[in-house]
Amino acid sequence: MADSQAYNKKDQELALGNDELICAHLGDEYEKFLGAVIPPLFQNSLHVHPSVEEMWNPTPGRFVYARVANPTTDIFERKVAALERGEKAVAFASGMGAITASILAAVSCGGHFIGVEGMYGPTRTFVTDFFPRIGVTATFITGTDLEELKAAILPNTQCIYLESPSSVALRMQDIRAITAIAKEYNIATVIDNSWASPIYQKPLTMGVDMVVHTVSKYLGGHSDIVAGISCGSAEWMEKVAKNREIYGAMMGPFESWLAIRGMRTLPIRLKASMAAGLRVATFLEEHPMVERVIYPGLPSHPDYTIGQKQLTGYGSLMSFIPKGSIEEVKAFANRLNWFKLGVSWGGFESLITVSRYEPTPEEQERRGVYPKMVRIYVGLEDTDALIADLDQSLKQIKL
Ligand SMILES: *Cc1c(COP(=O)(O)O)cnc(C)c1O
Repeated sequence: MADSQAYNKKDQELALGNDELICAHLGDEYEKFLGAVIPPLFQNSLHVHPSVEEMWNPTPGRFVYARVANPTTDIFERKVAALERGEKAVAFASGMGAITASILAAVSCGGHFIGVEGMYGPTRTFVTDFFPRIGVTATFITGTDLEELKAAILPNTQCIYLESPSSVALRMQDIRAITAIAKEYNIATVIDNSWASPIYQKPLTMGVDMVVHTVSKYLGGHSDIVAGISCGSAEWMEKVAKNREIYGAMMGPFESWLAIRGMRTLPIRLKASMAAGLRVATFLEEHPMVERVIYPGLPSHPDYTIGQKQLTGYGSLMSFIPKGSIEEVKAFANRLNWFKLGVSWGGFESLITVSRYEPTPEEQERRGVYPKMVRIYVGLEDTDALIADLDQSLKQIKL
């Protein structure tokens, strides 16, 4: 990989830790880009060389081919690496591209993997369906019981995979305690940090080796791209970048350009998300037609104290269980005006999904998922209007 991520002096200063300035200005490099206030979109697949000598031995920092590195993608990677306090970041064509390439940098044939029960569905499918084909075994843990984790460690355990808060169930893991155990046994750790975003949680500073994100959600922020990113030490990222080069799931230049634009507003979007999320969660918890709300920012959340130790804020994706039958819950979702029925989250628009999955009592206990669970993403629309919308439809539920 071209050593294109060498920070310039201004980047280094910003990378010291002002998230707002990193999002707004890291990578601007006006002198390099003719004074353009927005870094340009390098929509090209290759770069040409001035001589055969240069072609054979490119000067560090030279770009060659866009499956390996691209100047626009490079700026996006530097921004996320600085936000996560990592040495490097490697961007992908999707969150799943980043997740699979990062896990495969840590596991190999004959190895063993430990992952949390609540991991994102397709990540779980990768573990259950793909691992047997490459000779890797796996154990799922709740992630909230350190003794259970210790008992799951085998001599050939290579990777512990976390997602905190997890998908749908929003369970949290004590990141510092788990990475301390992993280091004792020389096991690599990977965490999906999509829910909190790098604004509200920085797992690399808590001992995690690799942090992965979907960029399709909060980082992109406008529901107009699918992308992903992994970050960590230069050593880990070299392995991840090698996987990207071979698997070929490189983030495209236009997606990178849009992600840079999305990141300029990431800190203020997340401030708005946190304020709206807390208001909506509190409203739901007090509503007579709601059985239970699962939101990391509410003291009623089973892992609230873990969250308080490692999150500096909360996103606006939450789950709840309305009262009434599944038919009534479906009708509740169908009646909403502002919450659109759709997967994904992290954009400007409010969304809702209704689970048709009927978890067994054991799955309910271990994964924290329940029948007729509803997941909502509170978007950036007027919060009063969103609450009024939820209220009008909840009130119509018949018991
Ligand atoms: C959406 C999502 C992913 C997958 O990202 P894609 O960009 O869709 O591949 C991974 N983790 C979490 C928590 C997600 O919500």
